[in-house]
Amino acid sequence: MTDVSKYTRQTVTEVRSWVPGKLFSLRVTRDPAYLFKAGQFARVGLPAADDPDGPPTLWRAYSMVSGPLEDALEFYSIVVPEGEFSPRLAQLRVGDNLYVEKTPYGFLTIDRFFPAATSSAPPEAAALEAPTAAPAAGATLATRETKPDLWLLATGTGLSAYLSILRDPATWTSFRRIIVVHGVRRAEELAYREEIESWSRQPEFAPIYRADPRKLIYLAIATREALPGMPSERLTTLIADGRLEQLAGERLDPKSAKVMLCGNPDMLSAARKLLGEMGFAPGRRGIPGNLAVENYW
Ligand SMILES: Cc1cc2nc3c(=O)[nH]c(=O)nc-3n(C[C@H](O)[C@H](O)[C@H](O)COP(=O)(O)OP(=O)(O)OC[C@H]3O[C@@H](n4cnc5c(N)ncnc54)[C@H](O)[C@@H]3O)c2cc1C
Repeated sequence: MTDVSKYTRQTVTEVRSWVPGKLFSLRVTRDPAYLFKAGQFARVGLPAADDPDGPPTLWRAYSMVSGPLEDALEFYSIVVPEGEFSPRLAQLRVGDNLYVEKTPYGFLTIDRFFPAATSSAPPEAAALEAPTAAPAAGATLATRETKPDLWLLATGTGLSAYLSILRDPATWTSFRRIIVVHGVRRAEELAYREEIESWSRQPEFAPIYRADPRKLIYLAIATREALPGMPSERLTTLIADGRLEQLAGERLDPKSAKVMLCGNPDMLSAARKLLGEMGFAPGRRGIPGNLAVENYW
């Protein structure tokens, strides 16, 4: 896409390497007119490799890591060695340009789970629907006395979308408990672990944790390395044999839980099948479901 009215040019302000040559995050400036809902993704662009000062011609989808109220955008990326885009994205340094399409996309958003704001459009229609403003700080989407639990199940960089959701105050007030499960191969790939684990110690979260010390349950699972107290198993195995519920200390019950799945398509289709057998299903025709899924490739 080279139509200048469709994108803005932003500037890299911070680069963080998690695993050198493999996993990194970028923060870039944000156009104040770029409004998105937590869980949505941006289309970001770079010029062709042989025309670095030319217009952006290469575009990829990236979930926003940053919350809707932050004044910068943040992305978390893998480097696919044979990929066309990600190795070049990994070379960006502070001061470099990154182009961002003006329209945010996607339906991996918590409003899917609540009647008032749920869209009737299927997820694949994401790119066709106009963006709406982010929920206001402190807003809650749950109106019932008993709030549902939110299970956020990710492999690898699928965590990106959940970070935006977790950085959105509305998430914390809309659910009883939030269970984040991050599956990776090795412990070094547990990006953002410190941030997630630090929330319970931060003063601004104190009222939330005082009311419920188990408000956020974070399960880090590595399949190729034993983490203390954690099985080295795939998420799907842990769902199927009930160990995920035991580890979380919570029931994965379709009557009281809302589940998001994000990341590797093989894991997603296997997990989707298992959860379907347990009674989880995406929303249909304006009726909110209890399952939302986003494939990364
Ligand atoms: C809705 C959506 C949101 C996305 N959000 C993110 C994100 O937040 N972070 C991110 O790193 N990527 C994300 N992706 C994937 C991203 O768009 C690119 O595909 C990826 O960065 C690789 O680009 P590439 O051109 O280097 O390789 P591509 O040619 O795009 O991909 C080559 C191959 O690499 C593998 N691959 C692609 N993406 C990943 C990945 N994330 N993890 C593991 N293997 C992968 C697949 O086998 C794919 O066929 C998202 C994709 C979609 C559709």
